[in-house]
Amino acid sequence: MASPSTVTVSQDAAGRWFVSLLCEDTIPDAAATNAAVGVDVGLDSLLTLSTGEKVANLRHERRDRDRLALAQRRLARKVKGDGANRAKARIKVARIHARIADRRRDHLHKLTTRLVRDNQTIVIEDLTVANLVKNHSLARAIFDVAWRQFRELLEYKADWYGRTVVAVDRWFPSTKLCSACGTLAETMPLGVRTWICRCGVVHDRDVNAARNLLAEGLSVIACGGGVRPQRESSRMGQSSAKQETQRATAGLPPLTGERCQPMNVRGRKCSR
Ligand SMILES: [Zn+2]
Repeated sequence: MASPSTVTVSQDAAGRWFVSLLCEDTIPDAAATNAAVGVDVGLDSLLTLSTGEKVANLRHERRDRDRLALAQRRLARKVKGDGANRAKARIKVARIHARIADRRRDHLHKLTTRLVRDNQTIVIEDLTVANLVKNHSLARAIFDVAWRQFRELLEYKADWYGRTVVAVDRWFPSTKLCSACGTLAETMPLGVRTWICRCGVVHDRDVNAARNLLAEGLSVIACGGGVRPQRESSRMGQSSAKQETQRATAGLPPLTGERCQPMNVRGRKCSR
């Protein structure tokens, strides 16, 4: 056990107290069992891996979301003058928010730890926030936060364990491309969960997208673009929630794979 260098005490909107300890720690080297994996993130399945594995969204999330919507409506109805009741309603909303956030953080921590432990290279899609705020539904809002958090956790853990995270350009047509023959489908409406390519291969929408992301990510690495420099000094990890946010904001700019233009997965050209 190390003695903490910083101790931070804070209180959140739900009235809960937190103590955060900042400690120096050395992370042991551990080889990944798998070379690379593609990860598709979505509203139906939280994560779909290129291996075909699907990770569902949290079981309680839908119910929590309904409760949150109800509590928010009740808060909105409280009249301005009624201070005590309004404050009570506000704390209720904050508590539900906090519970959703806690469960999500716990879930994402477990998922990212497993992904980083098992895989040397992890390819994700570079979803930008500006792209995501168009849809104002609560489900989408929660997804947006989860996605940002997923990427933050993934990137700092990858740094700790000497893994590579590649973020593929968001314009790459991961959903429309056949991962078997490279044919680009003209359209792929949101409701389509499975589709058959002209080559005869039946695709699960998300698994196919994850496979395309993997192929694109590997070609980005092969073309020399998009590889995050390994920062050896950062392998001396510091474990603390405070450190997490520092790492996230100090992160490298999003990778766009600009040297490799997204083309047919098989017939890729390097512009180098
Ligand atoms: Zn095909």
